[in-house]
Amino acid sequence: MGGANALYEGHRLMLPGLKDRAAATCQGCRFYVPILGRQETRPACLADLDIYLTGARRIPAHLRAGDFIWQAGKEALVKAVNKVRPEGQACGFYCPRG
Ligand code: SF4
Repeated sequence: MGGANALYEGHRLMLPGLKDRAAATCQGCRFYVPILGRQETRPACLADLDIYLTGARRIPAHLRAGDFIWQAGKEALVKAVNKVRPEGQACGFYCPRG
């Protein structure tokens, strides 16, 4: 047997909608928002902040770094910036822009 399952080997189940997500990137996600710092602008993931993830507040076109820090703190900002991969495959929170 060798642990192989002949019935499932080589098969891959693709659920409806999953294919689109597999091809999606952070850049196409509505939570992907530029954060304006004093000297540079970097993209971050606003899905980390409950107010945006739950829809309690509209996702802005951009956000000042100071406002992000005021809302969630510096550590959360670093985490949100490190989380995005502009060209990388989207995560489970992916939500298409539109
Ligand atoms: S990490 Fe997920 S939720 Fe955040 S911008 Fe990328 S795809 Fe969207």
